[in-house]
Amino acid sequence: MVPPPRQGRGIVRGLAAALLVIVVGLGVLRARRAYVQSWFEDGPGGPAPALPTPTAEPLLAPWDGPVRVVVLDGLREATARTLPNLDALCRRGIDLRVDVGFPTVSLPVQHVLWTGKTQQQTGIWYRIAPLDHPPPGGLPGQVPGSVAVAESHLGIAGSFGFERVIPGPRDPSPPHWAPDAFEAAAVEAFGSKARLVFVHVLRIDEAGHRFGGGSAAYAEAAATADALLGRLAAAATGARIFVLADHGHRDDGGHGGAEPTIRIVRACVAGPGVPVRRVPPRGPPIHLVDLSAALFRSVGLESPPEAPGREVAAALAAPAKDRTLPAPSWWRWVVAAIVVASAGYAGARRRRWWASCPPWFAFAAAGCVVVFGLPSLSIPAVYPPLGRDAAVAMGPGLVLAVLGGVRSGHRGTSPLPAWWPSFAVPAAVGGACIVLSAGSPPLVPRWTAVGSLVAIAVGYGSIGWGIGWSLAAIVGRAVVGRRRSDG
Ligand SMILES: [Zn+2]
Repeated sequence: MVPPPRQGRGIVRGLAAALLVIVVGLGVLRARRAYVQSWFEDGPGGPAPALPTPTAEPLLAPWDGPVRVVVLDGLREATARTLPNLDALCRRGIDLRVDVGFPTVSLPVQHVLWTGKTQQQTGIWYRIAPLDHPPPGGLPGQVPGSVAVAESHLGIAGSFGFERVIPGPRDPSPPHWAPDAFEAAAVEAFGSKARLVFVHVLRIDEAGHRFGGGSAAYAEAAATADALLGRLAAAATGARIFVLADHGHRDDGGHGGAEPTIRIVRACVAGPGVPVRRVPPRGPPIHLVDLSAALFRSVGLESPPEAPGREVAAALAAPAKDRTLPAPSWWRWVVAAIVVASAGYAGARRRRWWASCPPWFAFAAAGCVVVFGLPSLSIPAVYPPLGRDAAVAMGPGLVLAVLGGVRSGHRGTSPLPAWWPSFAVPAAVGGACIVLSAGSPPLVPRWTAVGSLVAIAVGYGSIGWGIGWSLAAIVGRAVVGRRRSDG
């Protein structure tokens, strides 16, 4: 069928409208960039989560001897259960599962450990850069002679007020450790007379980012870290030892989100005055603020007054599942539902009801889920400024969006009335994510990540749609012109 001939002024107007669609797409991508950047800003801080405190006989005896803490950065729970030295240590003390809160990012999670307060309480949610000053009331700064030994990323251990950070508080990261020098320094510090020694092992997290949590390199890094743990435990037999991970890793690498495989880690407390107690692999986790409370007590300090952590026995008796996660309030859910329902209603009035979930968007979403799994801040593709990896995963859906533009341009329908019904619901889903996450920072489990991915879909989808429309309209006009001159 030959498309209807177009008037010269009509096509110019159409091209201008298609250009507007492209500009809207670019604007969405730009707004997404600002949204992603705002995740990393510190928040104002907020109230303590309500954790129940049942009366229970304390598990940990008072302690005034040395305390040793090991953070095996990025060690996921499933891998932690395969490590012989960690297992041996856990078997002679309290073997726990710990919910580290959200987001699952190293510096903020350590901030919880050393201050006893959640990410949402202190406003340190998704901080990458070292802190300018140690946190007020932080544990390491209150223990004279406290020592931290860090394998790399010294800014993390260097942020919390340890009297001494080895190799140096603000040395370049990664530090220039000679082979085996880190292990030697860590073992020496563990065996020293210092009341508090902290060792931050980062090789597992680094392997996770490079090769994925399901890789052989990750398992190998975990095994060498476990060998180090064996040496550390042997060097500090008279000490109370805390071992924990700060978050897990996805099979193909990444953390930050709230999914249980990332957020729940294995942690153990062992040594003098610690009874044997084992939480099974699927048993209820305690919260990191609870473990922090045990740490404060073990070095003879009171937790800060706003710290919500309970004694381990009380925490085990009343786990309060997911209670340290931020969650959108009910009225945000109502507003988000109204936004999506209105867009669906408006779109369905223009077309059939199924148009409220346009096929291009369904395919884009399905592509994302197939490639990355359910959206989460643990997926690296939600972060980059251009969102290219996510756009590639959405490929089939974005091609459909372009074809939608081509079809409309070929038929000569004017762009805006054809474009918006296909994009109203996707845009509304993005808007609903903004409603659910709006705040400083705009971080909630799941929906912040969905918002980033939907913006990529709507942005690239609109750009593709507008280009498709323009090309089809221009080519269609040229064909009609030629046929006329031929005829
Ligand atoms: Zn990491």
